Amino acid sequence: MIPCDDDQPDGTALADWTSETASRNVRWYHCARCDTPVTPEDAAINVAGSHEHTFTNPNAHTFHVGCFTVAPGTSPVSADTLEHTWFPGYAWAIVVCRSCSTHLGWRFRGDAGTFHGLILDRIRLFGPTGV
Ligand SMILES: [Zn+2]
Repeated sequence: MIPCDDDQPDGTALADWTSETASRNVRWYHCARCDTPVTPEDAAINVAGSHEHTFTNPNAHTFHVGCFTVAPGTSPVSADTLEHTWFPGYAWAIVVCRSCSTHLGWRFRGDAGTFHGLILDRIRLFGPTGV
């Protein structure tokens, strides 16, 4: 059982998300390591003109990320910072899988709102949750 917490902007628990989207047959991206649902497929959005982005961080690690409005299966594990941000005006925090703590991406928060950039080779698309 995944515990409720109020890390999500709207306070919605992961179990509530999955039951709501299951009723609409929405597929979910799951953590590739532990299979926990991470984000519904219909949360995918374009940011700066594209859903997918490839970035290289100051440590020379390259990440291929997809942008999503929410990521109920993740938890932030760092404070927001604007340092080396990939999206100007958006402060980032590291987010990890709520279940296995694998680093799945980043949460970006700015004046225009919040979104998540998730590392696409660390999540996998599955059928409707519970089916
Ligand atoms: Zn996981």
